[in-house]
Amino acid sequence: MTSSYRAPVADMLFTLRHVAGLDRMIADGLAPGLEEDVSAAILEEAAKFAAERLAPLNRVGDQEGARFKDGLVTTAPGFREAYRDWATAGWNALPGPTEFGGQGLPTLIAIACGEMWNSACMAFSLGPLLTFGAMEALREHGTQELKETYLHKLVSGEWMGTMNLTEPQAGSDLSTLRTRAERAGDGSYKITGQKIFITYGDHDLTENIIHLVLARVADAPAGTRGISLFLVPKFLVEADGSIGEANDVRCHSIEHKLGIHASPTCTMVYGDKGGAKGFLVGEENRGLSCMFTMMNNARLNVATQGVAIAERATQQALAYALERRQGRAPDAKGNAMSLIAEQPDVQRMLLTMSGLTQAARSLCYLTAEAIDRAQRSETPEARSAAFERASLLTPVAKAFSTDIGVEVASMGVQVHGGMGFIEETGAAQHLRDARIAPIYEGTNGIQAIDLVTRKLPLSEGRAIASLIAGMRSTAQKLVGINNPAFGQMAARLRDAVEALDRATQYMLSALRDAPRDALAGASPYLRLFGLAQGTASLAELALAAHGDVRNGATDPASARRIGVARFFAENIATGATGLEVAVTAGAASVHDAAPALAS
Ligand SMILES: Cc1cc2nc3c(=O)[nH]c(=O)nc-3n(C[C@H](O)[C@H](O)[C@H](O)COP(=O)(O)OP(=O)(O)OC[C@H]3O[C@@H](n4cnc5c(N)ncnc54)[C@H](O)[C@@H]3O)c2cc1C
Repeated sequence: MTSSYRAPVADMLFTLRHVAGLDRMIADGLAPGLEEDVSAAILEEAAKFAAERLAPLNRVGDQEGARFKDGLVTTAPGFREAYRDWATAGWNALPGPTEFGGQGLPTLIAIACGEMWNSACMAFSLGPLLTFGAMEALREHGTQELKETYLHKLVSGEWMGTMNLTEPQAGSDLSTLRTRAERAGDGSYKITGQKIFITYGDHDLTENIIHLVLARVADAPAGTRGISLFLVPKFLVEADGSIGEANDVRCHSIEHKLGIHASPTCTMVYGDKGGAKGFLVGEENRGLSCMFTMMNNARLNVATQGVAIAERATQQALAYALERRQGRAPDAKGNAMSLIAEQPDVQRMLLTMSGLTQAARSLCYLTAEAIDRAQRSETPEARSAAFERASLLTPVAKAFSTDIGVEVASMGVQVHGGMGFIEETGAAQHLRDARIAPIYEGTNGIQAIDLVTRKLPLSEGRAIASLIAGMRSTAQKLVGINNPAFGQMAARLRDAVEALDRATQYMLSALRDAPRDALAGASPYLRLFGLAQGTASLAELALAAHGDVRNGATDPASARRIGVARFFAENIATGATGLEVAVTAGAASVHDAAPALAS
């Protein structure tokens, strides 16, 4: 009874063009060889792989999960074959650097494809997601020798990468990290310690696994300034590139968890036999900033997991609502029961799901565009402005998208009624799988704090001011539209943007005068930011659809795009003013009421 997955390629391309400015990027020469039909062809092929090879793994992966026996992890049935096909088809190389065999495609295209793969099977796609992050960190910070030895095989997918930060006492706060690195005298290091919750820390998909591990060199300063990054292969690599002896690292156990059962979450032990051989990436004591390269990349990819699950849950809920009959809709004719899709309350749920999904997708694409421009723009000024925009948008994309992933998946269960709670439909799996994304890659609370304390103040608020100016200009364009299908979109967008502007001014001054208040309002502020930007992006899609209709388009997609944007503005964006109050006037109640919690 679980629904199949059909990638929304047309909607993705429409959003790439009209929200993320793909055409402009191509015109600016920032995406060579990527004319629009090439992007479409790549997306179509990725969609095919997602639907045909990955989607069928989702259920079996959930039911069978990864297994741990005799110190080794075995992935769920079908995963090995799918991974082989994945690498052979070249998908792993999509975002990889061209000098190491990658296709060097823009982040925009990579995350659009990533959404489809995660919709199809998040537990599978999480492995490559971390490999992409490892590739990026190594390319940015590794020595030429490390790159030559490891990057080709990571890019081709022959080997996979992992990210080892977390320890039992060091989660959100890595300053207490204990894993040690001792200089071995030959340029390498001996790594000793334990890491927990390591995704794909061990598995049978590739013959080698390349761990990126945070550890402390013996005489390093305390806190986060004394953390270094090391590359620790599962198997050492010989000078000719062949696999050598096993390194001193092992998987101790895997976790039993709420969702993504097929993604092994491993406790890793380094240095049982005197120390695992590790190679420094970047400089000693600069490990955290190197790891941030990987984490920022991974954060946007995790954001797309939120979109991915939301999209899949929405498709499934809609399909169910178009089959299930209960009651009689208000304007039903005859005595037959109506489809639940005809009941206004169910329609509201479906429109909310669809609107939130598209708003989050737009946020992810805007972030990806900023990342691409930060890396590819011609002038240093353009690169630096884009980098600030990417830095500002990344925590919003991560937290907003993963939060709505959970909300939409939960609503998907609701649309199914009792059947949603029964595993057979698959709606429950989406909710279980979605739940991890607001937690890993920095919890959403930490994202909100990052946004408010580090990103808002960038260039004295220039990046946020420029985004708000863009939202205002969208609202202004709406004012000139004479189309009743747009309803109150212009006014509601304007309300949301002004609420964001006022909340931003408040935050910037609270950061100076009352930092505790700024921290208390960080999460509602992030939500308000995502909501206002999401409303503006949906309005841009509606404006483009309106233009298409004026040019003679008759497809139902245009009416849907305008309808969803209007619904979002009139029903969801209206929450912006409430969030503004929570940001600007809610802190005192947090401070006053919190002590009573513990009494
Ligand atoms: C399935 C799974 C896969 C994972 N994969 C990996 C992986 O591959 N590699 C890896 O290194 N780690 C991985 N993790 C670990 C994950 O990144 C951490 O669980 C996460 O960063 C949160 O840390 P924690 O669990 O210690 O929670 P804590 O840090 O204890 O946080 C608990 C709560 O307190 C809040 N909190 C903590 N500090 C603050 C603060 N200063 N201000 C406000 N609120 C705060 C948090 O937001 C959270 O709500 C994985 C975890 C899971 C469950």
